[in-house]
Amino acid sequence: MSHSYLIDIDRLRVDIQELGAIGYDAQTKGINRIGFSKADYEGRLWLMDRFRQEGLSPYMDGACNVICRYGDEDAPAVMIGSHLDSVPDGGLFDGALGVLSGLEVLRIIKNSGIALKHPIEIVAFSEEEGRFGGMFGVQSLCGLIDPAWISSVQDADGIFLKDEMEALGLDPMVALNAYRSPESIEAYLELHIEQGPVLEEMKRTIGIVEGITGVFDWSVRLTGEANHSGTTPMDQRRDAFLGLCNFGHAFPQLIADHGSQISRLTIGKVELKPGFAHVVPGEVQFSFSGRDLSENVMRDLANASRELLSCIAREKNLMFEYEEKSWLSPKHCDAGIVTMLANEAENLGHEPVLMPSGAGHDAQFMTELTKAGMIFVPSVGGISHSPKEWTNWNDIEKGANVLLAGAIALAAK
Ligand SMILES: [Zn+2]
Repeated sequence: MSHSYLIDIDRLRVDIQELGAIGYDAQTKGINRIGFSKADYEGRLWLMDRFRQEGLSPYMDGACNVICRYGDEDAPAVMIGSHLDSVPDGGLFDGALGVLSGLEVLRIIKNSGIALKHPIEIVAFSEEEGRFGGMFGVQSLCGLIDPAWISSVQDADGIFLKDEMEALGLDPMVALNAYRSPESIEAYLELHIEQGPVLEEMKRTIGIVEGITGVFDWSVRLTGEANHSGTTPMDQRRDAFLGLCNFGHAFPQLIADHGSQISRLTIGKVELKPGFAHVVPGEVQFSFSGRDLSENVMRDLANASRELLSCIAREKNLMFEYEEKSWLSPKHCDAGIVTMLANEAENLGHEPVLMPSGAGHDAQFMTELTKAGMIFVPSVGGISHSPKEWTNWNDIEKGANVLLAGAIALAAK
């Protein structure tokens, strides 16, 4: 039975701490393994060395993903992974947890001599966090990048990806060879910290991710008329800011009428014009984004938001324009894997929470290529992308054991 096998938390802790020393900044206490930096690359070489210590033969594919296979050469693999890069001043667990738990799972399966019908492959994806747009490694593996993009993409400082790759001795165009056919992969599992407060608030240890929420992004403009703030009577103003206020104020009602418990509406960026203390703002331009796990709910929210903005504009004598900047559909984890992981968690004595992921993960691209599943463990205070990011070792151990049980359920004979 799968639940008779357990990971070694002391060994996993040492791995997480050793990797966490690479790119560590003693001043900020943050981890800086930004995608394609020297520290990021050093972390990848460290990981390859760890696999070699197990007598395995890891390799780096053309996109700088580190991959290590154990088992049959030809059968489709059960992949386990996450990313090794970090945000600037990131935490100890984001990404690293999924990769190093995979390494520990692989050790247990190998050292216990468990007979496999599918080989296990551990993958450490590259540039997930967004220096060059994010999810570079997993998109390369899924065949979603092209040569024009590789040669033109730059980071915020204007540094080209191709130059960073060449500086590390890598040929950027070889990233195209990282593609894996769907036939070569049986399933994908990822253990990740939740990066939100839900599990902690519910006092539960294990989350099973049902899917990654979709997101739409709009740019909205309300145009009225700028005028003197002392002489223009309140009832004669065309105040664009008040239009924005009414819209934001209506979010709870919009979600109650058209959304779900997991819907999210956000105005994250606002620009008022002319932007002077004593002038009625004649124009406001703002970002508006909506998220949900159901594409239909996303559509309903988008339609209702458009109608409401038109209505507010009429009422306030404003002109309303908007542009849809992007529409990313929700991605669903495989229903069979969700059920299997929930069962394995229950077998280990947990009460798993089925939940969506509001953050993006490598797994969202893997859902397109294969059957994918994700496990969450609690983030203390819901904090992530910060040196303060923390997950208790107890919870790490429990999450990694669910990952192990899931891997055995999918891969063992
Ligand atoms: Zn992550």
